[in-house]
Amino acid sequence: MNTIIDAYEVNGKPIKDWTIKEHNVALDTLGARIYKPFHGVLVLGGGSKPYMIKIRKETEKGEEELELVDGLACYSAVPFGHRDPVITENVNNFINQMATIPRSISHSYLGPWLVKLQEFTQMDMFLPKNGGTEANEAAIKAIRKWAKNYGGRDGKGIKGTPVIITANNAFHGRGLGSTAMMDDSTTRKDLEPLMPGFEQVPFNDLGALEAKFKEHGGDVAAVFIEPIQAEAGIFIPDDNYLRDVQKLCKENNALFVLDEIQTGYCRTGYDFAWQLYGLEKPDLITIGKAMSSGVIPVSSLCGKKEIMELFEPHGEGSTFGGYPLASFVGLLTIHELEKRDITNLSAQNGSYLKDQLEQVAKKYPNKVKEVRGKGMLIGVEINPDYDGHQLSMNMLENGVYAKETHETNLRIAPPIVIEKEGMDKIASALDASLAAL
Ligand code: PLP
Repeated sequence: MNTIIDAYEVNGKPIKDWTIKEHNVALDTLGARIYKPFHGVLVLGGGSKPYMIKIRKETEKGEEELELVDGLACYSAVPFGHRDPVITENVNNFINQMATIPRSISHSYLGPWLVKLQEFTQMDMFLPKNGGTEANEAAIKAIRKWAKNYGGRDGKGIKGTPVIITANNAFHGRGLGSTAMMDDSTTRKDLEPLMPGFEQVPFNDLGALEAKFKEHGGDVAAVFIEPIQAEAGIFIPDDNYLRDVQKLCKENNALFVLDEIQTGYCRTGYDFAWQLYGLEKPDLITIGKAMSSGVIPVSSLCGKKEIMELFEPHGEGSTFGGYPLASFVGLLTIHELEKRDITNLSAQNGSYLKDQLEQVAKKYPNKVKEVRGKGMLIGVEINPDYDGHQLSMNMLENGVYAKETHETNLRIAPPIVIEKEGMDKIASALDASLAAL
C-alpha cells in the first residue's frame, strides 16, 4: 500500500520497510499474548482474487511475497472475501461523508437497517453492538430481565438466581458473562468467582439437559447454545436435537437462545442455522462477524418483542452500537447477500468443498477421523496422534491459510464467494499437508 502511514517512521524506519522479525518482536513484547500467530508470515492485503490474501514470508533466500487462499475468512466474518468492489466502493463513499455521531441523535441508516434486519433475521427487535461477545453480554441481560419479570413455572418471575444452561466446550467470546457460559479451564483461569447461575451440559445430549431442568425446577431461565459448535471443532448436533431442546424450553417456560455469531448470515447454507434445523423462531439470537462483510466489528442481540421491550433508556447503551457506518455497512451486507443469493451459493460451494475434502480424507484413514460440515463451515478432525498445528503450518506451506482449533480440528471456512479453483486448491493443499504430516 502507499499511504502516509506506510511511510510513517516508527522505530526509526518507515513501517513498509519493517522486517517480519521486527513485526514479530513488537507483537511478542508489547502485545498481551492472547494468540499464537504463525511466525515468519505477514499479511499485506487482499490478493488477486477476493478469496486470496497477499503475504510476505520468510524463506531461506530472504523475504518473499506470495498469495494464499484464505481458508478461514476471519472465522466466517468475510463472506465476500477481500477487496470486493461493491463493498469497497460504497464504504469508501460513506467514509467521505462523516465520522460518527452519538445515538442520542438519529441518522439516515439506522431505521432502514433495523427494518432489513427484521426481514432478514425474522426477529422483532434489535440491540446493535460491536463485538460478538458484547451481543452475548446483552443477551444475558435480556434473559435475566425476562426471568425476573416472566420466568418460572407460573410465569410470574424467578425469585432466586435464574439458571442459564449452556454447553460444554462452547465458545461465546471473552466478556465475563460469556466466560461464565464456557467451561474451558484456560479461559476461566484466575477469574473466579464468575457470574453465578450458569450450568453446563454436554452438547447434543438431550438426557443431560432434561436432568438439568429437573434439578433446577422452575429456576431455569434459558438454554443458550451455538447451533453448531464451531470453535470446539465444528460439532454438528443430531438432526432432532435442537428441535427437542426448543420443545423442552417451551414446556418449562425457559427461553431458547442461539448464538449464531459464526453460523448466521448464510455460512451454513441457510440464512441462519435455526432454519437449517427447521426450528421455530428462537426467543433470542446473537449475530456478529459476517453482518458487516468483515469491514468493521458489528454485532446485535435480536429477539422477540416481549423480551427486548424490557430494555429502557439509560439501562443499556453503546457509543458505536448502531453508529452510522455500522448501519450503512450492515444494510449494504444484507443487500449484497440477497442480490447475489449467497445463501444458495454457500449450500452449493459447501457441498462441493466438503465432497473434495472427503475424497482427500479417504486417502489417509489413519490420519483423518472425520470431515464434518454444513454449508461453508467445515471441520477436518485428525487422529490425536497427529498435531493439528503442524497440519495448519503444512497448509500454509501449500498455499492455504486455515487454522487448527483444539489441537485436532482443522477449521475450513473460506469466503463464501470462493471459486472452484480456490476450493480445489484447498483440497490439494490438504492432500499434500496430510501426506507430509
Ligand atoms: N460466539 C461465537 C459462536 C463465536 O464464534 C465468537 C467468535 O469467534 C464469538 C461469540 C465472539 O465474537 P467476538 O470475538 O466478535 O467477540
